[in-house]
Amino acid sequence: MKKVMLDPGHGGKDSGAVGNSLKEKEIVLAISQYAKRFLETQYQGVEVRLTRADDRFIPLNERAQLANNWGADVFVSIHINAGGGSGFETFRSKSANDLTVTLQNTLHNEILKSMNTVSPIKDRGRQQANFLVLRQTAMPAVLTENLFIDSGDSRQLKDQAFLKATGEAHAKAIAAFLKLKAVPSKGGTNVSPQKGYSAELTKAVEWAKKQGISDGQRVNEPATRGEILIMLYRALANK
Ligand SMILES: [Zn+2]
Repeated sequence: MKKVMLDPGHGGKDSGAVGNSLKEKEIVLAISQYAKRFLETQYQGVEVRLTRADDRFIPLNERAQLANNWGADVFVSIHINAGGGSGFETFRSKSANDLTVTLQNTLHNEILKSMNTVSPIKDRGRQQANFLVLRQTAMPAVLTENLFIDSGDSRQLKDQAFLKATGEAHAKAIAAFLKLKAVPSKGGTNVSPQKGYSAELTKAVEWAKKQGISDGQRVNEPATRGEILIMLYRALANK
């Protein structure tokens, strides 16, 4: 069983970067949760934890400690940049070994590729820095800076589908690095959305999946009032 520790930056009294009515602590938690869900549903032999799963403050050294005490195989800290620039960059510690360089390359390429499908994103490169969470973690550890909250990049950061794709790109890169096996497809039970659906239903299913409202499965089965409420909440409350 491989262990993945995802670290949504900041939280609680520490909002992280703010700008364009966005808070870094909220965006990075969303990206981390999308990454966790994708790893858990698409791959086998993996366990995923978050250093924080809600809006709370955790000191940096405790984040590293959580990963070390658990014996995580990978640590990925997720952040949003600020300072008026634009684009995507990744960091490893100055004393990183080859394995960490591989993790950084894998994350960097996969996430940038995903972001570039939405609009051209500036590649700020693979950087090295003396960040505490990278220095004090005992496993390959990388920090991602996913665009700038206080520039034109904020347009993407307000788009839930973009955050979902970015989270899933983190997950795919981690899976590739750990050589995780994909969950075998359940031959036949996963009906392709196009099969026997009207054109409008096909479009609606694709849209709901992209928005993170529904997984697009079992569309012909009845929903409870609670399930409908959850779908409305995800769609209208932008969760
Ligand atoms: Zn940050």
